[in-house]
Amino acid sequence: MATDKPTRTPFDDAKDQLRKAQEILGFSDGQYEMLATPRREMAVAIPIRRDDGSTEVLHGYRVQHNFSRGPAKGGIRFAPQVDLEEVRALAMWMSWKCALLGLPYGGAKGGVTIDPSKYSQAELERVMRRYTSEILPIIGPEKDIPAPDVGTSEQHMAWMMDTYSQSVGYTVPGVCTGKPVELGGSLGRAESTSLGVFFMVKAALKKLGINMEGATGTVQGFGKVGRGAAAFMARAGIKVVAISDVYGAVRNDEGIDIEALGKHVDETGKVVGFSGATEMDPADVLLLDVDVVVPAAIESVITAANAEKVKAPIVVEGANGPTDFAGDAILVKNGKLVVPDILANSGGVLVSYYEWVQSRDNFFWDLKRVQENQEIRMMKAWKEVDEYAAKKQIPLRVAATVLSVERVLHAHQMRGLYP
Ligand code: NAD
Repeated sequence: MATDKPTRTPFDDAKDQLRKAQEILGFSDGQYEMLATPRREMAVAIPIRRDDGSTEVLHGYRVQHNFSRGPAKGGIRFAPQVDLEEVRALAMWMSWKCALLGLPYGGAKGGVTIDPSKYSQAELERVMRRYTSEILPIIGPEKDIPAPDVGTSEQHMAWMMDTYSQSVGYTVPGVCTGKPVELGGSLGRAESTSLGVFFMVKAALKKLGINMEGATGTVQGFGKVGRGAAAFMARAGIKVVAISDVYGAVRNDEGIDIEALGKHVDETGKVVGFSGATEMDPADVLLLDVDVVVPAAIESVITAANAEKVKAPIVVEGANGPTDFAGDAILVKNGKLVVPDILANSGGVLVSYYEWVQSRDNFFWDLKRVQENQEIRMMKAWKEVDEYAAKKQIPLRVAATVLSVERVLHAHQMRGLYP
């Protein structure tokens, strides 16, 4: 993985992807600017009291990229590299993702620049609550609905829901998604992103005529997305031969026992040291000679520096923005089938939508209904993207971006420009 700070930001990549869509759809530069520019950005200071009594000021953001199709929707990230540019990119991708899935949402994203491993649970609660109260004027079930992302969990969403509810004076479960089921969360939300990644792995293998039983794969990241994706893949007969996290990587060519690795990670916090595998260089996890690789950690991990060395015929982007613009061009040149993030990891926002609907109706679905609806809607999106890509002879990423941008643009045109 590249360690140097890139001079280009993920937002540059996101805007370049939009330019590609502009070339195909042929809209004006003015319309490009309208789609490239976030509608609202909020930067907040988050003063918190550390457990030792000292005071520290952290920095947080909420970017609302677009509202044309409905309230904004997107996760909240707690990570050391969070900055406004990253949050802008993630917010733009959320707009496209929601449009691609046909959800009545625009895109948003938020984040706090923090290394959560250096803070106690009580400190993290204070950070989350203060961050929530700082961005409170711009969030709400009708305005902008946050969710978990890297470094945040359903516990953070419970704190957010409570902080918001305390402020308005009544309980508002629809203010965020990814909540615990007991607080209005949806069955199937916790594993929804991973399950969706697995649907896309399955579809891509089928497209290339590779049998799932006995196929091989690797997963980068063993968090909310990577861990579940690895488990669904293994359960379907795919040998997951290497897995990494922020601390290192492990390999077993016979296929890693994902459940046993999960137990090891629950006990130790990292994949290294797992007795059922040997250690390997984490930089090589996406470069092994397997059928499918799943980057499911952070952005810009497949770049000009390593894309030539990707041997797998299939890349399924569990993470947001794992392939930068230059890396993507190399994968395309080498004929790789890349299932882009806005399609591959859309299961999370899709089931978040189901959660929001349930929270507002106070009527809760069983798991079967959630997962059947998820599969139907994601496979519809896969089919639309795959067919459009074939028709236009373009990569899946460009097809997915064009289809979504077209929908957002259409919403803009129908609503008209105010005033
Ligand atoms: P998480 O915090 O639960 O897990 C992140 C994992 O990545 C951890 O195992 C961590 O150790 C690992 N990691 C972090 N930095 C790394 C590095 N430099 N190299 C290798 N591994 C590294 O986060 P998550 O929710 O699983 O999110 C992962 C990705 O999926 C992010 O890009 C996120 O935006 C995207 N995503 C998440 C959801 C969701 O529902 N959680 C939905 C859509 C997209």
